[in-house]
Amino acid sequence: MKHVDILIVGAGIAGLRTLYSLRKDGFDVRVVEASDELGGVWNHNRYPGARCDVESYDYSYSFSPELEQEWTWTERYPRQPEILSYLNHVADRFDLRRDITFNARVASADYDEVGAKWVVAFEDGAAMTCRRLILCLGQLSAPKTPEYPGQELFRGETIVSALWPRRDVDFRGKRVGIIGTGSSGMQMTPVIAETAERVTVFQRTANYSVPAANAPLTADEIRDVKAHYAERREMTRNSPTGLGFQPGKVKTLDVDPDERERVFEAAYNRYGFGFALAYPDILLDPEANAVASDFLRRKIGERVSDPEVRAKLLPVTHGFGTRRPTVDSGYFEAFNRDNVDLADIREAPITEFTETGIRTTEKDYPLDLIIYATGFDALTGALLKPRITGRDGQTLKEKWAQGPITQLGLGTAGFPNLIIVGGPGSPTVLSNVMVSTELQVDWLTELLKTLRDEEIAEIEVTPEAEQAWNAHVAERVSETLYMTADSFYNGGEVKGKPRVFMPYSGGVRHYRRLLEKCAADGYAGFALRKAPLAKTAEVQDAR
Ligand code: NAP
Repeated sequence: MKHVDILIVGAGIAGLRTLYSLRKDGFDVRVVEASDELGGVWNHNRYPGARCDVESYDYSYSFSPELEQEWTWTERYPRQPEILSYLNHVADRFDLRRDITFNARVASADYDEVGAKWVVAFEDGAAMTCRRLILCLGQLSAPKTPEYPGQELFRGETIVSALWPRRDVDFRGKRVGIIGTGSSGMQMTPVIAETAERVTVFQRTANYSVPAANAPLTADEIRDVKAHYAERREMTRNSPTGLGFQPGKVKTLDVDPDERERVFEAAYNRYGFGFALAYPDILLDPEANAVASDFLRRKIGERVSDPEVRAKLLPVTHGFGTRRPTVDSGYFEAFNRDNVDLADIREAPITEFTETGIRTTEKDYPLDLIIYATGFDALTGALLKPRITGRDGQTLKEKWAQGPITQLGLGTAGFPNLIIVGGPGSPTVLSNVMVSTELQVDWLTELLKTLRDEEIAEIEVTPEAEQAWNAHVAERVSETLYMTADSFYNGGEVKGKPRVFMPYSGGVRHYRRLLEKCAADGYAGFALRKAPLAKTAEVQDAR
């Protein structure tokens, strides 16, 4: 069976970066990717209007100053095709493709305790072994598709936004139904509305959004970023979210209303997600959150002309930021068009699909195309898809049945030589993933060098460390308002999923310090063994 020292699963942002770093440090490393193309979510989410809501110059790799200078982004918030071109450019520029096997979807991975290696099987029947297995599977990469009675009857076309086909979808003359009003639904609605005959947005929960204030980047802006890139990177690394913003110092309710209005207005018009940091307590104090939520509701109201539609679009079920808000480009204004309708399916739920469209308790919506923009089984969905079996035949699914448990988000006890990038328990979806990913990859590269230098056969999270880390993750989130709403952060919106807050809310900057401390303390919380535990146990038994 083919063997490689380190196997990386996934050729998205994290997998490409891990490959680059490990190969540079002389490791025998290979990437396997299920798709026939690299790019991860940016390969799959090709829906119209797909765009990153982190600024382009911050949503890019920091490992190569030459790359930083060579690549020029065209817009403040990059569109999906531009990000995919960038990732392809990186792969070509650093000759990464030669170490990537495409069309290789992992079906299972079994840990061989005696040999201290993973046996990885693919859906096409192929198999290989590796000493260390690194999962770079993404946080929002296992799409959900809701089940409604009669779905199979619908005679029109259905598309899942996160599995968008690689062809032009022509909306002209079509009546399009979009289910879901998260980032995906909000981004595609105004774009599809430009050509479709009619767009109906099926909204279960009204969502907060801050306008993107997107614009082409000017030559001056580009020159300025490139001239000061190192400082910009330092700022993002030292910010709590990896977006470069520092939270305001004064509390929301400690300023007079006029001043607060001015600060909110400025943040709203320019900073996208940065709005949440206009004051330091917006996601911590219910009263502060209520004031910020009121401001945003007012802003949404100003963008919609029809009073009935406006009322339905105002988010009232949760406070701003407790679920993932959106940074949009013309979403609310789209409802001012004659060809865009809102179906409030909280008020009048979908009862079934019919041959010709969607039926709610209120009426029938005739449709030619239905788009599911219904989100993802976040953070654990993709990790639990392959059957991963660790020590004593325990699967990762069994181990995480009550929710994921990790040491620093990087690994879990009972699964030696398995490393997760962007896993639950790390800042991931609460941060600029580019920053938190690179932070983890740099850290794990040093870890793997240590393992190589010290001839460590097996590294494994200790049960005590993961208990302590999960307790810390839970303690940090208890200081916030995140658990006041069901969200993809806490699994509350996936039926049957344990309701546990999964990402680390302590911030990227603090997380980096914890990683540094862990390494300085000899990789505290990880057992490093020169011989596999199974062999050691056998030797001890023989004595
Ligand atoms: P999402 O934020 O989870 O939104 C899913 C939407 O589908 C919600 O409105 C949800 O309603 C609705 N929904 C789910 N199940 C439903 C059902 N059975 N019936 C009716 N409605 C249902 O998913 P997303 O929009 O794909 O975005 C996910 C995340 O991906 C984003 O938050 C972001 O982190 C990332 N993303 C980023 C970008 C970007 O960078 N610009 C773009 C797209 C996605 P409820 O609210 O009632 O649950």
